[in-house]
Amino acid sequence: MSSLSTQDVVTLFTHIASAIEAQKDHLSALDGVIGDADHGVTMAMGFNAVTAALAAAPPGDPTSAFNTAAKAFLNAVGASSGPLYATAFMRAAAAVKGKATLDRDAMVDVLSAMAKGMQDRGKAERGEKTMMDAWLPAAEAAREALAKDESAAACFAAAVAAGEAGAEATKNMVASKGRSSRLGERSLGHMDPGAASAVIILKEIQKAVAGM
Ligand code: ADP
Ligand code: MG
Repeated sequence: MSSLSTQDVVTLFTHIASAIEAQKDHLSALDGVIGDADHGVTMAMGFNAVTAALAAAPPGDPTSAFNTAAKAFLNAVGASSGPLYATAFMRAAAAVKGKATLDRDAMVDVLSAMAKGMQDRGKAERGEKTMMDAWLPAAEAAREALAKDESAAACFAAAVAAGEAGAEATKNMVASKGRSSRLGERSLGHMDPGAASAVIILKEIQKAVAGM
């Protein structure tokens, strides 16, 4: 396998939904420390809605899969992660328009487009203790690995490692965006829940491309 089919993209979303569901309580507990304790619930609702929408209307190409995901996620999630992930999936859809399958380069484009879309939408910079602290370094690391012509597996292994390091680093950050910014210094010492869920998603993408 050298690329992901539309069905592989659909399967990837179901795997992400299961992984998030499995970590739901952990994510909400992280959000309970610095936010409103719903991050696991919101992310699970979002990805379960995506899975249901993709099953109800099987997409004809990867672009349709990402567009369906964007719409379903936005409709299901009222929390701040709703529009952020919806924008990410819309940008991913646009990035692979016209492609029947997604190869290594296209998957790195998907990751870059998602990170850029989230940042355009949420306007968070690195260091503000948000999911961007995982997504931005992950996208950058994948891009760097691609520039060295590394395999898809290596590109996404680099993305996961950078995302994990970024999520870990949020423990030492004071939140200045989103709900937890109200806590100020009290957010210190705790991992940002959005960065934690980003790592879960990145790991599922890594598994999906591992055989490419
Ligand atoms: P809410 O804060 O509305 O309850 P969630 O709990 O689902 O939403 O998501 C919280 C996460 O959203 C935070 O941990 C943070 O990572 C992320 N977040 C909040 N605001 C922004 C933003 N402007 N840009 C990027 N990520 C953000
Ligand atoms: Mg919350």
